[in-house]
Formats: sequence, structure tokens, C-alpha cells
Amino acid sequence: MTRPVAIVTGGGRGIGAAIAARLAEDGHDVAMLDLSEEACRESCAAVEAHGARALAVAADVSDEDAVERAIHQVSETLAPPFVLINNAGILRDRTVTKMTLEDWTAVIDVNLKSVFLTSRACIPHMAKNGGGRIVSLSSTAALGTFGEANYSAAKAGVIGLTKTLALEGGRHGITANVVAPGFVVTEMTRAVADRSGMTFESLVEQMKRETCVGRVGKPEDIAQAVSFFADRRSSFITGQVLFVAGAPRG
Ligand code: NAP
Repeated sequence: MTRPVAIVTGGGRGIGAAIAARLAEDGHDVAMLDLSEEACRESCAAVEAHGARALAVAADVSDEDAVERAIHQVSETLAPPFVLINNAGILRDRTVTKMTLEDWTAVIDVNLKSVFLTSRACIPHMAKNGGGRIVSLSSTAALGTFGEANYSAAKAGVIGLTKTLALEGGRHGITANVVAPGFVVTEMTRAVADRSGMTFESLVEQMKRETCVGRVGKPEDIAQAVSFFADRRSSFITGQVLFVAGAPRG
């Protein structure tokens, strides 16, 4: 039996790396798109440890040509994708009056435009092969977060885009869903602590107090939710947003 192919953007580290490993464990071959192939070395090894084929492709997911080339390369080298995970993301936090147009555009492009580009490139393959699964990463920040106008707008946009993909993909057997994490321990949240002048440990303690389950998230917590939506048996579950945030207080 050939294994279905999953594409994970930003698969080189953090949540993307955990998703890549989990999808390999679930029975997929996994292609990772990241800014450099080298960034995906450890993720590839983790995928191969599950007996799956791994492919690292260097691509800026906000670049139209790079995305088209990368999806073509995955389709030719492994097989056309059954699963697409839109995970790559960046922050450029500033309050609105200090935010430059470059801060705005970079965050919208990597977090939102990329989801349009990768989905547009993958959907024809999925439709031709009888279906597919698109799972995109939003955030609790989609509901509004101080200093993150660009990121909040992008992550809210991911929800609207996904609900539309669910409507348009239904007749082709393609589902589209969103996983919206709360605070998860990764390089992204370490950088937030650095920028705000806090130690990472004190930020984690603060986030624990603000979360009813009494702990912060691990990348594997997010991979668990992604795995559910990516499953071939989840064909009637589409257009949904699953917050994976440990019940934030307030
Ligand atoms: P991370 O540790 O910063 O990892 C992001 C990955 O995306 C990196 O491998 C990065 O590559 C890659 N990437 C960045 N820009 C890219 C581009 N233009 N093209 C291709 N790859 C690119 O972030 P994370 O915490 O794992 O977050 C993963 C996703 O979850 C993001 O969408 C994020 O917004 C979302 N999320 C995270 C949290 C959290 O608490 N961590 C909460 C809510 C939502 P480089 O290493 O080369 O930069």
C-alpha cells in the first residue's frame, strides 16, 4: 500500500516539526516546506524514524512561484498531496501606530497569503485523486491581541479562507479545517519573551496561571488536533475551528 503524502509548511521546527512526525506516525509520507532544506534535517530524520519517506523543500511560502515549484516537486518526487498543513507563520509585533507597512505586509503574506497560494496549488491534485485534507494554523490571537494587529488579522483571515475552502472543496471530497492554538512552547514564544524583556520561564509561569488546565501547550498537543482533521476518516468534518488552548481564563 502506498502511503498518502502530507505537506507541512514551516516543518523545520516547533509545531510544524511535531506535526510532520505525527503524520508520519499516522502513516503518511511527509514533505516539509521551509525557508531552507537544512532547517528540516532533524524533522526529516524524525519522519524517517517512523518508516516514512521524507522530503525537504526550500520554499518561501509567501512567494507564488516558489509555492508552485515546491508543490510540483513534491508531486513528482513523492506523489500528489492528500494532506496540506498550513503551519508556517511569523510575528512582527508592534502597536498599530508604531507598525510599519512592512510589518503588516510580511505577517499577512506569510500567515495568510501563503494559505491561499498552497491551497490553490494543491486543490487540483486533491480533486483529481478523489479528495484531500487541508488544515491551517490560526491562533487564539484571531480574537484580537494587544500589539498584534497584523497577526490577529492574518489569523482571523485564515478562518474565513478555510470556511470558504470547505464550501468549495466539498464536492471534490476535500475538507478544510482550522486548529487555533493558545500558548505553545516554541522558538516563536521564546522570541516573544525576549522582546518583552521577560525570561521565558516567567512568561511560561504567567501563561500557566492564565490557563485553566494549569500548563502551557506542547507542539504535540497541536499535532494531536491536526492528526484528527487530517485523518481519511474525518471526511464529514469540515469548515471547523478547533481551539487548542487549555481553556484560557477570562
Ligand atoms: P516557529 O517556531 O517560529 O516555527 C515556524 C516555522 O515556519 C519555522 O521553521 C520557520 O522557518 C518557518 N517559516 C517562517 N517563515 C516562512 C516562510 N516564509 N516560508 C516557509 N517557512 C517559513 O513557530 P511555531 O510556534 O511552531 O508556530 C507554528 C504555527 O502555529 C504558526 O502559524 C503560528 O502562528 C501558530 N501558532 C503558534 C503559537 C505558539 O504559541 N507557538 C500559538 C498560536 C499559533 P525559519 O526557522 O527558517 O524561520
